[in-house]
Amino acid sequence: MTDLVDSYGRTARDLRVSLTDRCNLRCAYCMPAEGLAWLPGEEVLTDDEVNRLIAIAVQRFGITKLRFTGGEPLLRPGLERIIAAATTLRTPEGHRPETALTTNGLGLDKRLPGLVEAGLDRVNVSLDSLDRERYARITRRDRLSDVLRSLEAVVAAGLHPVKVNAVVMRGVNEDDVLALAGFCLARGHQLRFIEQMPLGPRGEWDRSSMVTAEEILDRLREHYDLTPLDQSRGAAPAELWQVAADEHQPGGRIGVIASVTNPFCAACDRTRLTSDGQVRSCLFSRRETDLRTLLRGGADDDEVVNAWLGAQAAKPRAHGIDEADFVQPSRTMSAIGG
Ligand code: SAM
Ligand code: SF4
Repeated sequence: MTDLVDSYGRTARDLRVSLTDRCNLRCAYCMPAEGLAWLPGEEVLTDDEVNRLIAIAVQRFGITKLRFTGGEPLLRPGLERIIAAATTLRTPEGHRPETALTTNGLGLDKRLPGLVEAGLDRVNVSLDSLDRERYARITRRDRLSDVLRSLEAVVAAGLHPVKVNAVVMRGVNEDDVLALAGFCLARGHQLRFIEQMPLGPRGEWDRSSMVTAEEILDRLREHYDLTPLDQSRGAAPAELWQVAADEHQPGGRIGVIASVTNPFCAACDRTRLTSDGQVRSCLFSRRETDLRTLLRGGADDDEVVNAWLGAQAAKPRAHGIDEADFVQPSRTMSAIGG
């Protein structure tokens, strides 16, 4: 086995695979209202090309976690076949990779039987508000009921625990913090608040008005008794809090991903593949390594392995959002794969 290591000694075990840059929502922190210029179809990796790169990642680099994302991964017709192929793979140590999906949940209820049959292990559903109007204001689509239906279907399908991702925007959905917490605790979902990062439309992010993890925790503490869990979070991005049970909810865990105010870069174990076949060693990389051209030029697996190793070796030490010389990457979150 060849470890996918960078020059700071971190080894990648987690591969984020973006299956499309397209999306059926237009979340304000992620995309402009008019959408983006989608990649032309011929630039997007085919299912066979995706499968080959995933096989290299698992069989050669010992990647143990695969997360399918986008854009909206449910818009990829071959999603079930790609997951099914991934679950037949084994790392050099004989482990089957864990498979997870990050989705906005639209249409997930209908796809679940096929996804479960393909071997999907876990789902993260993004949900920023339980208020229909606020949900529609953030996502620019009136689809809250679709997401709620899908969440019920995920529980019924036994994919436990469901993680719910929420981004909090100042002046928009701060009041949803407690409502989302109550909703998720009552249903046994693990809610994770994510600090908004500068990965959306230009001008949408402002460090001085960003809602910080500490503010989110302060709001939660108004109603809940929180005990820190798992302070050595390792490569996991979320800092976890145990919420004590009360007469309204049975207790549970809530996570806060303080990507800006308390980044986990030092322990990051990720490598990323965009839907057009570019390796990015970090969400905030300014450098991409083109595996698609290698694949289409007839490269053998060793050549792909070497290109991927070179890309990962150059992984930045940290994203540097809070530093004066920070430059936002040219691709937005949806085009990289969140
Ligand atoms: N469309 C799917 C979804 O929304 O779950 C998958 C892709 S989306 C880019 C993945 C995650 O990134 C979502 O949970 C979303 O809330 C988060 N995200 C998008 N833009 C972000 C930003 N600027 N800062 C922080 N999180 C962001
Ligand atoms: Fe689409 Fe996900 Fe971005 Fe929202 S966060 S616009 S659902 S890719």
